[in-house]
Amino acid sequence: MSKTSKAARSSRAGVKTAGPATGKKKKKWDFRDIATWGPEKHEPGAVIPESGTADQYETGGWRTERPIRDIEKCNDCMICYWGCPDSSIVVKDGKMVGIDLNHCKGCGICAEVCPRDAIEMENEIQARKEEEV
Ligand code: SF4
Ligand code: SF4
Repeated sequence: MSKTSKAARSSRAGVKTAGPATGKKKKKWDFRDIATWGPEKHEPGAVIPESGTADQYETGGWRTERPIRDIEKCNDCMICYWGCPDSSIVVKDGKMVGIDLNHCKGCGICAEVCPRDAIEMENEIQARKEEEV
């Protein structure tokens, strides 16, 4: 076994397996001691220990571009709502009322799918500077 695969195996020391849906064992994270993990215990890339946790993390800090809606152009069609992978389009009484910037990662899908070009992506640093003025 190579050094790399040994390291990979030891990095999964806290991982347990759970019942299979497809005949294969499904990996399940045991992350109860995640606060004490060093880099060697994390899988490469981002770690999302279990599904349905997006609500608990403010992923808006990852954003490099910010969606800005032009309310004059928007007709509340909700296409951006269905397209947003982060459920960051805020809807109230059937109308789009804003964007949850605590969770929006700035992927730009909403701007791409909007049929009225009502959303433009703006550089996040620039948007923050404009907010400060
Ligand atoms: S897709 Fe565009 S027009 Fe439709 S609700 Fe979103 S911003 Fe408004
Ligand atoms: S930029 Fe991406 S994450 Fe943010 S509101 Fe638009 S679709 Fe959602």
